[in-house]
Amino acid sequence: MTSSHTFEPILRRIAAEIESMAERGRPADYIPALAVYDPRRFGMAVAELDGTVYGVGDWREPFSTQSISKVFTLALDLAREGDTLWKHVSREPSGNPFNSLVQLEYENGIPRNPFINAGALVVTDRLHTLTGYAAGTLLEFLRAESGNAALAINDGVAASESAHGDRNAALGHFMASYGNIENPVAVLLDQYFRQCSIEASCADLALATGFLARHGIRADGTRLLTQSQAKQVNAIMLTCGTYDAAGDFAYRVGLPGKSGVGGGIIAVVPGCCTLCVWGPGLDERGNSVVGVAALDRFTTLTGLSVF
Ligand code: GLN
Repeated sequence: MTSSHTFEPILRRIAAEIESMAERGRPADYIPALAVYDPRRFGMAVAELDGTVYGVGDWREPFSTQSISKVFTLALDLAREGDTLWKHVSREPSGNPFNSLVQLEYENGIPRNPFINAGALVVTDRLHTLTGYAAGTLLEFLRAESGNAALAINDGVAASESAHGDRNAALGHFMASYGNIENPVAVLLDQYFRQCSIEASCADLALATGFLARHGIRADGTRLLTQSQAKQVNAIMLTCGTYDAAGDFAYRVGLPGKSGVGGGIIAVVPGCCTLCVWGPGLDERGNSVVGVAALDRFTTLTGLSVF
């Protein structure tokens, strides 16, 4: 266990190191609304188990959560339907880009894991059937866990993604042809684009991830996941959370993590704390360049990792 604000000097040191990094990648431009962000932005927050949160840089600045949202929809779906989900999506690293179609045909419309887009679409589809409003269920959960009632969907980002959403539409229709999608594909895509367009800060997301460090316990002390399910979600984050860079992320950072093309990455130190970093410049695999670097430095300087 750590006491409050233990990591503040380390965060300041990391921020100074990140400041001097010249190579910062490029913001996602396949969603035009995300292309406007300055790659020099950087924020990092740590949330401790009791909800104490602190950070450096732009740690209170909202950004587009994008694929980070997939962790929360997975947890919310697992909490409701349990292992039935695993008949519809597998749990293996894909080794392919996050938006890849190639493995679906060989695997009869069953996506490789819940964090590539195909798998996340299946999870959102199932959560939508179970709740009647997947994106709203997610938003309500993020507001409750972060304590920030102002969290909202950015409709402009959702519209931008929808207007350029042919790849996700193809994934949805292809899986529907195998009977692995329950809702009309247009309804599913609308939910998925809204889900990805929720904006939150490093502080909000570090807090919202806390249930994974508390072995399934929410901020209010109630249980969302069993201890075993929390372990399972953390394991899938470690093996699949950064797509075809998951091996390198595990090597460098050594923590369960989940990235999004908005430039954010969440990470979990089970039993200790959660982290969120943000830097809008991405590498060629869609992960924040400064985000991975900052998490790498955090685990190196603190000695904290799951290994
Ligand atoms: N909304 C994005 C998409 O579907 C999410 C991708 C990501 O963050 N890796 O393309």
